[in-house]
Amino acid sequence: MASFAVLFLTLGFIIFNLFQSSTYKSIDKDMREQVASVKKQPNIQKQTDPNPGPDHPVQQNKPNPKMPFQASILVFDDNGKLLNKSSLGNRYSVLKNINLNKKNINKKQTIVVHNMNFRSVLIKVSKNNNNPMYAGHYVLIMQNIDTQIQTMKNFEKILILTFFIFWIIALVISYFLARINMLPIVKSWKQQTEFVNDAAHELRTPLTIIQGKLEYMLTKPNKKIIDEAEAISVSLDEVSRLNSLTNNLLDLARFDQATTKLNFEYTKPQLFLKDPIEPFKDIINSQSKVFQINLNHQPTLYLDRNKIKQLLIILLDNATKYTPKNGTIKIYDQVEGSKYQFIISDTGVGINDSDKKKIFGRFYRVDKSRNQSSGGHGLGLAIAKQIVANHQGHIFVRDNLPHGSEFVVELPIKHK
Ligand code: ADP
Repeated sequence: MASFAVLFLTLGFIIFNLFQSSTYKSIDKDMREQVASVKKQPNIQKQTDPNPGPDHPVQQNKPNPKMPFQASILVFDDNGKLLNKSSLGNRYSVLKNINLNKKNINKKQTIVVHNMNFRSVLIKVSKNNNNPMYAGHYVLIMQNIDTQIQTMKNFEKILILTFFIFWIIALVISYFLARINMLPIVKSWKQQTEFVNDAAHELRTPLTIIQGKLEYMLTKPNKKIIDEAEAISVSLDEVSRLNSLTNNLLDLARFDQATTKLNFEYTKPQLFLKDPIEPFKDIINSQSKVFQINLNHQPTLYLDRNKIKQLLIILLDNATKYTPKNGTIKIYDQVEGSKYQFIISDTGVGINDSDKKKIFGRFYRVDKSRNQSSGGHGLGLAIAKQIVANHQGHIFVRDNLPHGSEFVVELPIKHK
């Protein structure tokens, strides 16, 4: 708003000054012509009395065609006596109070007489001038500039009015532009605040538990460690939860600051899928669930193996967590055009449509109470999404019919 105001004011000031100076220039040009025409009178007319008194009106020359209509000429003698009183006609009543001021000789001035504006110049005409009316006298050329002054005033009014109208328009536009521009900033600011709140909340729960357990143990200083093994083990569980939470938070913060260093390399799926899958075979089987692996494609991909391993662990961990006993977890792959897809499917609880997009958000958990017991913080999929995005890939979830869900990770195939 302030910038607009400054711009408009400056622009208005410049335009007005240009207009004013060009008006005065054109008036002054007229004046110069008049001065020139007075100084070298072309019409040589014999005058009997070169110095007629006020009672003997000076014989007027033929009107100079170049002389503007609004111009008046006052002729003074050296003593400041007005010599051409009669030739002024009815203008005399207005101009009679004007006195000769020799200091103003050759100076262009704007004077106000009886609320009328005049541009004037006083010249001393040489004695050799052909017009005896002027010869050796002081001639004050006065041009009425009321019309120009009025025009300037009107212009000034229009300019101020236009300035205000446009300033108000600019005000409205800048308000909406600022709002539009601020939207993403406000959104990300809100997200940050929510993130910090959620993180604080997540940190508080394990800390409260640990504090409670420690305080409880302090009330029993004579007990042996074995007697308080449960309290110690609960505290340790919470410490490891805190550990994983802070690691996840650190990961996300690094992604946000784009300080995560990725070690990209050309590789094949078997080189990065095998390692993270291996331990899950035992874990899943030990939970009386079935684990099927069906990986058949070996395209060349350009990626950070460790990050993709981390992604795979998140997805397999979730599939294991959210699939009940006797369920099946499967990993398979396919090539779709220039994309390589690996899919982790399960026959678990499934995810309803309204949650499918939200689960990739930070701290989002579908069923908070259930997930609390399974140890999740709702950060795993947010990290997974960031990892895939850093690989110019795509991750989404779809239903695994008749029940369960399928997480599809799509990565671009590179040809080395
Ligand atoms: P969490 O640590 O809670 O598992 P995630 O970000 O990994 O956090 O997952 C977010 C939420 O998405 C989970 O809380 C869970 O409700 C849902 N979810 C993730 N994977 C699955 C899955 N395979 N089956 C059902 N729900 C899932």
